[in-house]
This record gives sequence, C-alpha cells and structure tokens, in this order.
Amino acid sequence: MIYDPEVRRETPLLVELRKKIRQQGPMSVGAFVQECLWDSRYGYYVSRNAIGPKGDFTTAPEISQIFGELVGLWMVVAWEGMGKPNPVHIVEYGPGRGTLMKDALRAARAVPQFLAAANLHLVEASPLLVAEQYRTLSHLPVKMRWTTDLTDFPTPALIVANEFLDALPVEQWIKTNEGWLWRGVDLGSSGQMTFGLMPHVHARKDLHTRWSEAKPGAIWECRRTDLLATSFATIAAKGPLSALLIDYGHTDSGLGDTLQAVRAHRYEHPLCSPGEADLSAQVDFADVIAAVTGRGLAVDGPVPQAELLGALGGAERASRLMAANPAAAAGIETALARLMSESGMGTRFKAIGIRSRTLPPLPGLQARRKPAPAQCAVVPIM
Ligand code: SAH
Repeated sequence: MIYDPEVRRETPLLVELRKKIRQQGPMSVGAFVQECLWDSRYGYYVSRNAIGPKGDFTTAPEISQIFGELVGLWMVVAWEGMGKPNPVHIVEYGPGRGTLMKDALRAARAVPQFLAAANLHLVEASPLLVAEQYRTLSHLPVKMRWTTDLTDFPTPALIVANEFLDALPVEQWIKTNEGWLWRGVDLGSSGQMTFGLMPHVHARKDLHTRWSEAKPGAIWECRRTDLLATSFATIAAKGPLSALLIDYGHTDSGLGDTLQAVRAHRYEHPLCSPGEADLSAQVDFADVIAAVTGRGLAVDGPVPQAELLGALGGAERASRLMAANPAAAAGIETALARLMSESGMGTRFKAIGIRSRTLPPLPGLQARRKPAPAQCAVVPIM
C-alpha cells in the first residue's frame, strides 16, 4: 500500500482525540473509527459530502445508473417471490446520496403494482446525507420516511444495502509474544497518533486456538455482526424479510489488517486525517453468514458482484442503453467494466441475500462456481 506511515495531518478531530487519549489512555481501533466517522462535530459522515466524484470515494451506484436499475429489478423479483405483498416496506441501509434508490425506483416503474405497494424507509445516521437523499428522492411518487434504527419499520420488508457493512467499525486484535492483544490507538512522543495496545486487557485464548499458526504481528478483525444478526432476527420475527447486501470483502474468514482510509480518491494512512478521510474495512462474509444463520435466517450466496449483475441482465441493460444513446456508448461500456471486471469491482465486491426461511431463494444469488479464495489484503475500492 502506498501510504506514508509518517504523514499525519493536524485536523480539528485530532486535537480532540489527543485530549481524550491524554486523559483516558489509548482507545480501541473500533472506538477510533467510530469517533472518526461519527463525532457529533467533526465526524466524517457528519461534516462532509463524502460520496461521488466531488467527494472522497465513488460507489457502484455513482458509477452507473445500471447498478441501481438492476437492484430495482432484484427488488421486484424478490417481491414477487414474497407473494406480491401490498404494502411492502422497501428499506435501504446507508443510502448515501440516494442514487441507488432513485435508479431502482425508476426501473421498478415497469411494474406499477410494485410501486403502488411500496413504502420507502431510509436508514441513515448522517444528517448531511439525509438532506441529500431528500433532494434526490422526495419528488418520487412513493411514501417515504427516514430513520436511524435498523429495525424501525413494519414487514413484509425488502432491505437493500450497498457499502453499508464496510462502514461499520472493526476492532482489531494483534498477535504478540504475550498472545492475542486488543489493538488500540495511542499517542507517540510528539503527540502524533500511533497504533498501540489497549492496557489491562487479557490475551484472548480463543484466538490463540483458532489461529494457532499465526506469527507475531498478525491481525484479526471483527465487527459487531451479532448486533446486525439480532436486528435481522427482530425484523424476521415480525414478518417476511428479504435482504440484499453488497460490499467489498472476503468469503472466508482470514487474518490481515484491512482498515483503509480514502481521501479525495487517494489512499492514506488510517491515522493520517482523523475525521477527514473515509475509514472502512473489508467485510468478513463468513462471519456475517454464521451470525445470521445462527439466528434462524436463510442465506443465499455469496456471489461475486459480477455474477449478481450478470444474472440480473447487466450486459443486456447496457446494450439497450448504448443503442438508445450511441454517443454515450463508450462511457456506458467503461462503467459496466468497472462494475463487473476482475480489475474493477466485479470479484472484490460480493453479494449475499438474507431471507426468512419460509421464502424461496432470492434472485441472482445462486453461486455458479466455487467462491474466490479469501482475500485479506487491503485492496483499492476507489
Ligand atoms: N449505499 C451508498 C452509500 C455507501 S457509504 C452508496 O452505495 O453510494 C455508507 C452509508 O452508510 C452512508 O450513507 C453512511 O452515512 C451510512 N451509515 C454508515 N453507518 C451507519 C449506521 N450505523 N447507521 C446508519 N447509517 C450508516
């Protein structure tokens, strides 16, 4: 990775975090990420327009309208599989600028019965992004509301989430000669931020057993997937649930430091610009799947993003768009390649479906070949 470990920028949040660490001691990596993303004054999602060409990183729906349109088609087919309920509660976790849902609902106009049944719930914690989503979506002829709670809507529910899981903070544990210890963020001698260890925490014996071959310096990451799974179980206890989660990550659990910072479409050291860079980490799909199946839900996939989009007719949709607008054909082709090629997002991003056990398998998520091997290196997502 091309970031310079010595570079540190003096951001307003760094000043706050330095005070806090001086008073209270090191903070865990997860607590650091939480502060960087969500500090009420200087948090990244609270204070900046992060997404899109003018922001810091570009997501699939911002690359091409095809992505959101295919997710719209997925929603319609999943709704049919649920028995065409009316009303149906369409939920998006972390809708960003609202682009995916705008494109999805435009594509869904082909099935007026679906749109007539749809109630939209946008789960968003960033006030700035709520305002942006309102600008993008409020003119659409669908009832809509905003919430910050992952379970705050009725069922039958159809949930979609793109690049939501990677934004949930990870904790890191590091193998040392004294065993697996909790990794933290501390201050160096000149007040700069450095990675260190959390004091007064016992070494984790379970990690010693699980990763017995790991060498000192190895890092294991974990998220609160138990809380996520509890949310899905809470929803499914109310009524039928179908969900589509798309994100960058690996299909098998592994070791590796995948915490990454992106600012102005460039990578930098995760401690470089507290509050001014997007922080995210790879999703461990095996962990998510274990957590939700453990709570009684069924899972479809994972499949690479390229397979999901291919199964939903990505290439055909692109051909139709190119035929309708030949002048834009080259741009459409490039965008599709970014979404579907191996060098783009095609295999690094994966999709899983989560559903009530009583529902049929979800569209586009039946794996056609062996899943790719675990990739735990930090990989570009810009
Ligand atoms: N899905 C969008 C945006 C991805 S960025 C796209 O593909 O373009 C992550 C999104 O999740 C942002 O909208 C961010 O504000 C939101 N988010 C992250 N953590 C959240 C949380 N805990 N609760 C609610 N929203 C959250």
